[in-house]
Amino acid sequence: MKPIENGDAPGGVPRKQVLLDTSLVDVNEMQFPFRDSVMPGESGQGYALRMAEENGLRGLPQLKKWLGKSRFSVLDTVDAPMLSRWFGADERSLWFALGQLASGGGNAEYLYAGQQIGRSYFLNRSYPRLCPACIQEHGCCLIAWDISLVTACAKHQTTLTEKCPHCLRATSWNRPGLLVCSCGFGWQMTALQEKAAAVEIQFAAWVNDRVCPTSMTDEPAGLPAEAHDNISPLTRLLQPLSLDGGLHIAYALGTAAGYDEQIQREGLRQRAPLNKARQLLKMAAALADKMARLEPVRLRVQHPSVVVQLLAESASAQADPADRSLAYSILSAVLRQKAKSTWAGRNPQLSQLVLF
Ligand SMILES: [Zn+2]
Ligand SMILES: [Zn+2]
Repeated sequence: MKPIENGDAPGGVPRKQVLLDTSLVDVNEMQFPFRDSVMPGESGQGYALRMAEENGLRGLPQLKKWLGKSRFSVLDTVDAPMLSRWFGADERSLWFALGQLASGGGNAEYLYAGQQIGRSYFLNRSYPRLCPACIQEHGCCLIAWDISLVTACAKHQTTLTEKCPHCLRATSWNRPGLLVCSCGFGWQMTALQEKAAAVEIQFAAWVNDRVCPTSMTDEPAGLPAEAHDNISPLTRLLQPLSLDGGLHIAYALGTAAGYDEQIQREGLRQRAPLNKARQLLKMAAALADKMARLEPVRLRVQHPSVVVQLLAESASAQADPADRSLAYSILSAVLRQKAKSTWAGRNPQLSQLVLF
């Protein structure tokens, strides 16, 4: 392979990039010189970007081109064999880190971090968020940042970044390096990251624990020590649950708390996934606070089918007993409140659910 200079490397790239002229070789047979395994807790797309940068390639767009994908596509398990050949990671860890996004048959199921994920919107695979401080310290992007409701870094206790402070564009997986925006801006250890709310930090720690018990943060699994004194009821509800079960509950509570209406009122329908996620978590946590204090709660179930469906899924056979019990108790509250309403009448089978 004949190296050629990368004349259009964006400014701000920390070291000179050299592009490999791969037009002369079979991409299926390529093996790049800088090879590594997937780090514990590392996201699959983050691994591919890290290895592309290490090897002087033009980030994920170049890899996607060789893989026969468009630059807007997302890498997933079908790409594991080729990434393994090119960069050296074993296929099993790539499967874990990349996730299986394709759905087959009527019931879509997604695999991520080795577990089933019930809804595609539980995952945020297209609008990457990052903690620049973590990337500087550990040199990789964490898989937990790909969960849509993860809005904070549990270690640094700051909000994740989703846009470039220089060009203000959304952070992209097609950026040239882990800490380099497409405009050339290099993220530094900046004070730009906002302090995150306690519930965001606790939620992020819970997800970290679910996707990577021995996470890159070197923190004990679960909550950071300083957060133990003030564990929110939402976090307590989530603690025993599987990742999928807990995500179902968080979305169900956020929806029951009127998150949808609030978002519409505040005009956050625009592309602001981080703000929307923060709002949903905040409202789910406030509702859980009230339920824990045994205060009467007014559930806004304007879209009851969504809430009931989420809860019913959580309580289905794939959930563990703790998921089932919690989902049924909330489902019970929803059904009690709506017992006389028209939607309950239209769904007579729901009234016959055995609730404890
Ligand atoms: Zn961090
Ligand atoms: Zn930028």
